[in-house]
Parts: sequence; C-alpha cells; structure tokens
Amino acid sequence: MTSPASHSSTDSVAAQMLHHRADRLTPGQSLSPPLVSASTYHLPGVPEADYQYGRWAQPSWTELESALGVLEQADVAIFPSGMAAISSVLFTHLDRGDRVLIPEDGYYNTRTVAEDYLGAIGVEVELASTREYATRDLSGFALVFVETPSNPTLDVCDISAVAARTHAAGGLLVVDNTTLTPLGQRPLEHGADVVVASDTKALNGHSDVLAGHVASTDPAIMERVRTWRKLVGGIPGSFEAWLVHRGLETLDVRFERMCTSAGVLAERLSNEDLVTAVAYPGLDDHADREVIDRQMLRAGSLVGVTFADAAAAEAFIEKSAYIVPTTSFGGTHTTAERRARWGDAVPEGFVRLSVGCEPTEELWADLSRVLDELRADR
Ligand SMILES: *Cc1c(COP(=O)(O)O)cnc(C)c1O
Repeated sequence: MTSPASHSSTDSVAAQMLHHRADRLTPGQSLSPPLVSASTYHLPGVPEADYQYGRWAQPSWTELESALGVLEQADVAIFPSGMAAISSVLFTHLDRGDRVLIPEDGYYNTRTVAEDYLGAIGVEVELASTREYATRDLSGFALVFVETPSNPTLDVCDISAVAARTHAAGGLLVVDNTTLTPLGQRPLEHGADVVVASDTKALNGHSDVLAGHVASTDPAIMERVRTWRKLVGGIPGSFEAWLVHRGLETLDVRFERMCTSAGVLAERLSNEDLVTAVAYPGLDDHADREVIDRQMLRAGSLVGVTFADAAAAEAFIEKSAYIVPTTSFGGTHTTAERRARWGDAVPEGFVRLSVGCEPTEELWADLSRVLDELRADR
C-alpha cells in the first residue's frame, strides 16, 4: 500500500489514523493491535530494546500514541487521565517565581492543581475568564493555559491571537482541547505549543475508561513530559490504552453524529418558550461567530440549555427517555446535569447537555415530548 501525501485536512488525518497500523503489517499479524500485559521484557546484555520495563514504555501505549500522533500531526504521550496529562505539562514547565495564567471558567481541577500545588512551590497563579484572554496583558507569563470553548458556558477565545501575544512575551501556550478533539479543532495549527486533552470524553467516547494525552511538535517539551511520566509513575494500563485505541477508531463517525444532532437540538431548543437561553458555538448569533468560523471545524457535542429554575431543569433531565443523568460528557449516550450543583458560575436552571449518538430525530421527538409535558405541568 502506498501512503497518501501527508497533509492535515481532518478527513485525511482521520483516514490515515485508521491505517496507521494496517500500513505496516506483515503477513500473519493482527489488524487490531495486540494487547500486551507485561511488566518486564527480555533484556540481555546492553539494554537497547524498545521495551525494557513497563513504567518506561509499553507496546499498547506505542500503538495508541502512533494513532493519536497521526490525528494531532505531532508527537504524542498518553497518560492515565486528562489530569495526569495536564499535570505533566504544568509541573515540568513551571518553577518558583514563574507566572501562569489559568482560565477561571475552565475545568476546575486544572485551577485547583495550579492553585494548591504550584502555588505551594512559589508559582504565581493568575486567573482570567476565557473572554478576558482577548484583552489581558500576557507579558511576564511563563505559561498561558487556554480552554476553548470554555466549559460549561462555551465561550471562545482566539487561539492564534493569544499564541502571538504569548510568544511575543516569551511564554508557552498550552491548549486543553478536550471538548472538540483533534477532529473539531487543531490548536497546534493555530500556534499553540502544546495540546493537552482528557480522552475520557469524546475521544474514547464509550464512558468506560479514563485517559489523556499531551501533543507537541517540540521535542524538548515531549522529552520533559515523557521523563516525568517515566519517573513519577502515573502511567496508563495496557488494557486502558488498548480500549482507547478501539474507541478512537470510530471517533470521526461518532463525533459527526453528535455534533450534527447538537446543532439541530440547539437550534430547536432556542425557539422553545420554556428555554430562556441556549449556548452553542454553532448558533448563528453566537457572540464569537468570526473566531468560531476561523478556528473550529465542528461546533461540538455540548449544548448549554437554561430553564427558568432548578426544578424545571431537573424535570427536563428526569422526564427524558434518553438523557442519562451523569457528570462528564462526550459518550455515546446523551447525558446531562445541572451544573450549579457543582457550584459553577451559571444560573440554577442551566443544564449542560452532552449529545450522544442516538439518531437525531428520535432524540428530538423525546425532548419535544418532555417540553410538552413540562408546559402541561405549569
Ligand atoms: C474531564 C476534563 C479534564 C480532566 O480529565 P480526566 O480524564 O477526568 O482526568 C480536563 N479538562 C477538561 C476540559 C475536561 O473536560
């Protein structure tokens, strides 16, 4: 088989990702990657083998890193969770006296790790809302951390503009790309130095494993991150890596269905009298329309739906036949939760809806019935 010319359109990387292993098979090898469970490897004489001891490298990691590397068009290191991936970058790139900018409306554990652990070793942690990144003075920051769209309010910031300002000030730009995956947004192509992600969400997508990864084209960054993983010992299990590889193979089709349905539901929900607001990057009247069109390839599978109060929001989730009440997002099942229950800065009636893979019209028929029932109960 000959390889198609390498370029980074998402169709091309999605197809090449499926073939990353197929293209190097020799007769008799399995098309799916073998699941190798081993702590130690045959290692006679001078230790030069690819695999020596399980904390350092494992064949199942290599398969997943190879597939993800095609999607990211970068070197990739996998981690046992999104937080392990994020922590590996923060702890290897920040030192006493450095300043770091963290989003105050992003994933809250990132903020907590920065404040509680980096703060304790003398790193200065500053916060800004995702909207404030557009005007914030970035001079003096060793590391700028961006999460766009933010979660759960789905505000957007311009990655290339922030990259230019971060680099002009001598800093490193790290983007958490969890919500969109490499098929929905490609931060490295917009100037980010590092992408971090929780693959627990849409990337694995089956609600059955936690995982994360770090991607960068800078060998020095990847060397630090890999050394951290090897020494600190927070490593992925081989079965978990194998599961994520399996989930990843259908990311393109799953995410396409999820984003298409999310767009349809967002549009229709915004015309409903019981819904007071809908946040979705795909809506024409989103405040960040121009940046979204330039930067995002898909509008995502998350929709913020606001009802008048907590009771209406809970009833919406409860009465649906298809919405599973859970935290987290990005799985094959549609799920939702009222984010104020965690203390997010959103109205009491704000529901974060994670649209799954159910057929679009079947899902809408259910939500539409639920809204009719809520109206009748008023
Ligand atoms: C879930 C999430 C994380 C953390 O990932 P885990 O796999 O749960 O450790 C980080 N960032 C974002 C945006 C997330 O949604």
